[in-house]
Amino acid sequence: MPHIDLYDAPIIDHHAHALARVQPQTVAEYQTYFSESPDPVIKAKFVPDTIMWLWGIRELAGYLGCDPTPEAVLAARNAIPLPELANRMWRDQNSAALFIDYGFGAALNYSVEELRGMLAQPIEKLLRLEWFAQDLIVQHATFRQFEEAYVAGVEGARASGHIGLKSIIAYRTGLDIQFVSREEAMRAFGPVKDQADREGKLRLADKTLCDYLVVRALEIANRQALPIQFHTGFGDTDVDLLRANPLNMRALLQSGRFNDVPFVLLHSAYPYARELGYLAAMYPNVYMDISLAIPFITTEIPRMMHEIFGLTPFTKVLYSSDAFSLPEIFWLANRWGRAALEKVLSEIVDAGALTVEQARRAGRQVLGDNARRVYGFDRTP
Ligand SMILES: [Zn+2]
Repeated sequence: MPHIDLYDAPIIDHHAHALARVQPQTVAEYQTYFSESPDPVIKAKFVPDTIMWLWGIRELAGYLGCDPTPEAVLAARNAIPLPELANRMWRDQNSAALFIDYGFGAALNYSVEELRGMLAQPIEKLLRLEWFAQDLIVQHATFRQFEEAYVAGVEGARASGHIGLKSIIAYRTGLDIQFVSREEAMRAFGPVKDQADREGKLRLADKTLCDYLVVRALEIANRQALPIQFHTGFGDTDVDLLRANPLNMRALLQSGRFNDVPFVLLHSAYPYARELGYLAAMYPNVYMDISLAIPFITTEIPRMMHEIFGLTPFTKVLYSSDAFSLPEIFWLANRWGRAALEKVLSEIVDAGALTVEQARRAGRQVLGDNARRVYGFDRTP
């Protein structure tokens, strides 16, 4: 069988999170990072019997040159200063840029500015709409003031250094986003603002308001051809998976109002990978990100890639890690993502469907070239 080697294909990791300030000191802490579940019992009792952990530890031991035990791996990684460990692991996997969604776990993580000082690759950032909006609701007294600040912030997203927008509306009220009038949004604002005033903070989860704000952002993004990432499919238990199926976005996509917005739908929409692959094959401005499924579905990654590539153009599929907190989560995602891509493309060549040259080109597109094009990211590392 031909082997498609993609080692020289740089990764543009267009959806990722920041490194944690406090790194794990015990195996019990370490293993919490190897699951998406926020449940402490899952993390403590069940993670040790996942492929993610068992295979991950063995892979890391091989890389770090230590015994394949959690204790030895933890000791070996902690013997290396964090910036050095991170830069080494990213260099090893030919990672050429990170786009950071800094909204997630902001207080526990290094800021984008700090990461730029630590890391040897370009770092871009994404504006997380719901977090941005809920802070503004706390700060502004009236709907009109809030809306003005929100619109100005989104319109100025590029000017304030963001390469794209990000919405987690799937986590809050679901992806069946409706067109809501300004009057309805204004009515919904009252009780939400009262709650924010009472509690001094806010977790925005009012469907009318969330829908209105995402549509306003899309109108702006459409004028600026600004990409937007949507969380779709699995995440932690905060997400109602039924409402996180990207097929719920039909009204939005069919409206024809946002044809100039690149929609980057994240996380393979797992387990709705085929549904997302279908949307990316049908709508010119829908792109499929394959993160989070990579690395967490481990040995199933190649099968998922086959499911997508059968239908979806290679120019519509974007690799990213969605990794967070520890350099090794990025390393494992990058390693398994690239290896699966090499395996799957080799099999497709073997089946007579692509030439070696076509397969190599497809691999490079998925790992980095598509992200460069979709986000207009042209800096070379
Ligand atoms: Zn993410």
